[in-house]
Amino acid sequence: MSPEEEEALLSEEDALSARPVQIVVAHEDDHAFELDEAALERILLQEHVRNLNVVVVSVAGAFRKGKSFLLDFMLRFMYNQTSCSWLGGHEEPLTGFTWRGGCERETTGILAWSEVFVVDKPDGSKVAVLLIDTQGAFDSQSTIKDCATLFALSTMTSSVQVYNLSQNVQEDDLQHLQVCTLMFLIRDWSYPYEHSYGLEGGKSFLEKRLQVKQNQHEELQNVRKHIHSCFSNIGCFLLPHPGLKVATNPNFDGRLTDIDDDFKTELVNLVPILLSPENLVEKEIGGSKVTCRDLVQYFKAYMKIYQG
Ligand code: GDP
Ligand code: MG
Repeated sequence: MSPEEEEALLSEEDALSARPVQIVVAHEDDHAFELDEAALERILLQEHVRNLNVVVVSVAGAFRKGKSFLLDFMLRFMYNQTSCSWLGGHEEPLTGFTWRGGCERETTGILAWSEVFVVDKPDGSKVAVLLIDTQGAFDSQSTIKDCATLFALSTMTSSVQVYNLSQNVQEDDLQHLQVCTLMFLIRDWSYPYEHSYGLEGGKSFLEKRLQVKQNQHEELQNVRKHIHSCFSNIGCFLLPHPGLKVATNPNFDGRLTDIDDDFKTELVNLVPILLSPENLVEKEIGGSKVTCRDLVQYFKAYMKIYQG
């Protein structure tokens, strides 16, 4: 087989089997980042999407905090937009970004879903939706700088950043935000009597958490002021604990029957806030909308800055 034939066959396989693709790899030994330009181009330069304005929804945070789990439900929504039962069948195992098939190694970096979704917005325009997963060991001191870089990179290239956190917002979590829409997503929220689950409770919780107080250390005050100046739109969503089977059963495969009702109720509220056509936020840089093709160039440019 000639190399051309081989490549044609490979891209045909690509089209058939949508999957997570690593587009940025962080090498932890020498703190270097590497952009897989070919992989990024295969995704974003597909003929049917390259000239469409792009919406980039990223979920970022540490390993083992349920990012893939959430992204799999986001995929279900994207693949079943028109159905009110997009959440799926009761006994249907979750697939997509998840651990299955060794497709996702625990590598620090940025993964993209290989299929870019074309969505008709209510105003009649078509947009391309790219889902990305930014994962890092945000909790280990030695790699904090790397993760801040990675987080900045995915924030610069996304239109909505979902910052996936466990249980609360810690001071460290705020300091990662050295640099669109930022949505704090708090998993396993256990104080619904103080701030209710969902967007409203999240709003009152975050307002309290991001308040600048006179008696606060100057550094803490600055972090808060900086966050407000960086993001045009900041939200917060409080998600309940999904139940013990999800959190602890090694045989759990993502089926809905094993997930607590409260969690499913809130999931049905959360995902459309991020992904329904009327809520999609197109990526803008310097006030102009960005196409998939432009995004490839921005990725390359930002990589250079952070490698510098
Ligand atoms: P990722 O590394 O952040 O992508 O995390 P995964 O999606 O692979 O999930 C890690 C583990 O946490 C799995 O065993 C999930 O079943 C479980 N999990 C998923 N969502 C939640 C959640 O909201 N709370 C808790 N406690 N566990 C979750
Ligand atoms: Mg994951």
